[in-house]
Amino acid sequence: MSGRPTPAPLLPGATLGVMGGGQLGRMFVHAAQAMGYATAVLDPDPASPAGRVSHHHVKAANTDTVALAELARVADAVTTEFENVPAPALRELAGQRPVAPGADAVAICQDRALEKAHFTRAGVPCAPYAVIDSPEALAAVDAALLPGILKTATLGYDGKGQVRVADPAGLEAAWQRLGRARCVLEQLLPLQVELSVIVARGADGQAVTFPVQQNLHVDGILAVTQVPAPDVPAALAEQARECARVIAGSMGYVGVLCVEFFVVGGPDGAPRLVANEMAPRPHNSGHYTIDACDLSQFDLQVRCMAGLPLVEPRLHSAAVMLNLLGDLWFEPGYTQPRTPAWGEVLALPGAHLHLYGKTEARRGRKMGHLTFTGATPQDAQAMARQAAACLGLPGF
Ligand code: ATP
Ligand code: MG
Repeated sequence: MSGRPTPAPLLPGATLGVMGGGQLGRMFVHAAQAMGYATAVLDPDPASPAGRVSHHHVKAANTDTVALAELARVADAVTTEFENVPAPALRELAGQRPVAPGADAVAICQDRALEKAHFTRAGVPCAPYAVIDSPEALAAVDAALLPGILKTATLGYDGKGQVRVADPAGLEAAWQRLGRARCVLEQLLPLQVELSVIVARGADGQAVTFPVQQNLHVDGILAVTQVPAPDVPAALAEQARECARVIAGSMGYVGVLCVEFFVVGGPDGAPRLVANEMAPRPHNSGHYTIDACDLSQFDLQVRCMAGLPLVEPRLHSAAVMLNLLGDLWFEPGYTQPRTPAWGEVLALPGAHLHLYGKTEARRGRKMGHLTFTGATPQDAQAMARQAAACLGLPGF
């Protein structure tokens, strides 16, 4: 933890603050309040999902120094739900209150080039890549990296700020299209499976992990998460959890961290792990933990920042999570939103509906998620498939 060391755990009754008022902040607030904490949210939107359910809501941007001082005044410790929170804001807060994760770790996660360098330092393989930050760097690119994906080094999410490129001419055009921003070119890998691991690490260095999540993306946005991961051999899953612990530990991380991995076929045909990217906060692929584990990723976020003991979470049910995007609210050919058929999906056993309280549905906007828990993976899958068919969501 950066800033002052926490002499003793912050016990329930204290106030926990979060930078950002989106759905991740809202689920954090719910977990903190369930444990008896008061909460404070920093977000300029008066209708932000987390701000609306928090004890305190500082309605200002995270660059506003007066607002940061106000957050530090009301909150006894501060975390973030938003990846792109400016590192200087975290540093400023850390001078006054315990902040987890710290500014240095967040800065690594915000920048794909720093992130990849960190994976390499930690001894975890990532895709072969080159940093493109000048015409000279562009000209020097090794042709072996093509075909590849050009990604902006900062501010990308949900597949935004990425262009697939086939050859040097395409690469040059793509770099122009991305405004000649600092970028990372990655080799396009033949993905067998995508997975992610959530690790929670305390200021004392203790780290616990959730089971591996298998993720399906559609158009660059997470669509489905399945746990246990149906296509990940146990040894590889264990290796992914260990890699996540090492990645967190080697940057002195405090808080909840999500590491995304690809499984690719190695030269000998055996599947191997490649780290893709990480998020310095709870993650969409970890939402199933609320309903399928005895501790959720948000419970552990609370414990990490409060300096409370961490316990290895236990998966008590198989789970399939379906992301609910705003598209669901729009029938083909209609411009007026309608309410999806919640009644029908809630009639299915094991359904847990989470809606984030966003006032307006928009295409591509994360409105909620629907987790199916089951006694077996087959039970959870069967019900989730029925729900997906009923709502018109992608199959899996
Ligand atoms: P997120 O919403 O997870 O933050 P993002 O926009 O930051 O996404 P990435 O996770 O880097 O982007 O990539 C989005 C998706 O594109 C991946 O989940 C994967 O399906 C695909 N992808 C990314 N990099 C590669 C690669 N090197 N080879 C093959 N596919 C890739
Ligand atoms: Mg990603």
